[in-house]
Amino acid sequence: MTLHRFFKKVKKYSRHLALWATVLLIVITFSVYAFSAPPSEEKSSVTIYPEKIVPGNPLFITTHSTSTVSEIVFDGKKIPLITHDGLVHGLTAIDFNEKVLNHQVVVKLTNGEVIPVPIAVTPREKIEKPLGIPDTLGGNTTEASKMLIHNLAKENAEINAVTSGAVQLWKKGFTAPLENVFITDEYGYDRKTVGQTIVHKGTDFRAAIGTEVKALNTGVVKIARMYTVYGNTIIIDHGLGVQTLYMHLSQLKVKEGDTVNAGEVIGLSGKTGYAEGAHLHVSVKVNGLSIDPMVFLGFWEK
Ligand SMILES: [Zn+2]
Repeated sequence: MTLHRFFKKVKKYSRHLALWATVLLIVITFSVYAFSAPPSEEKSSVTIYPEKIVPGNPLFITTHSTSTVSEIVFDGKKIPLITHDGLVHGLTAIDFNEKVLNHQVVVKLTNGEVIPVPIAVTPREKIEKPLGIPDTLGGNTTEASKMLIHNLAKENAEINAVTSGAVQLWKKGFTAPLENVFITDEYGYDRKTVGQTIVHKGTDFRAAIGTEVKALNTGVVKIARMYTVYGNTIIIDHGLGVQTLYMHLSQLKVKEGDTVNAGEVIGLSGKTGYAEGAHLHVSVKVNGLSIDPMVFLGFWEK
């Protein structure tokens, strides 16, 4: 072999060698990428409901992850974890009087992942409406107004003392209290009553006297009694800090201690107590705070 032919051969082989080295490099690069980058569906994410948060809203924190949620912290405090549709959600509420607009949720997963989520609260628009005192409660006098405030404080103290169980009693989503839903008064405006301001912390539904009122979900009846201001009242505890309240009823069809099923008729609507006309007042409490029932109901309809 001449020196010339030898070099020609080396040149030929080196070309092959370069080709194979390139192929090998591509294979290695691809393998490293394929084994190190997790498939996109395994990446954990957190969604918040509602999208626009105002004071007096519930806050549902939903985690989408292949790992399990170990805890959810809101402003440094652990919040209850509920299950719905096979997913774990944190549930908390923004106080109607909350002035702080920036909050933080931290979701901790069992795989060690920690996901911080900033929460921005938009101030609530202030709406005022006049509301008279019914003649049955003394009419529009200062005396009647003082009595109303006094009774309201007494009744609120009793209602606020109702505790919530540590177990989630419901299996399905929460549903409306009436067959036909028509809102007559929304949550969250100021009612001016003879020099006093009472915030409406519930939703009023149109309901003729005697309309069947259904439990928003499964739970235990904690209160089923007559109050001066709230009239015939039912409070159902659903566990994990969630309670629903039904007021101004004409008839109670359950008693304290009863277990009621989702959608069960618990009473008939009326206009007992501080009510200018027949309607159904519903309040929803989350961790002791009365939040907007319609925003709360909206979560389960999604
Ligand atoms: Zn009301």
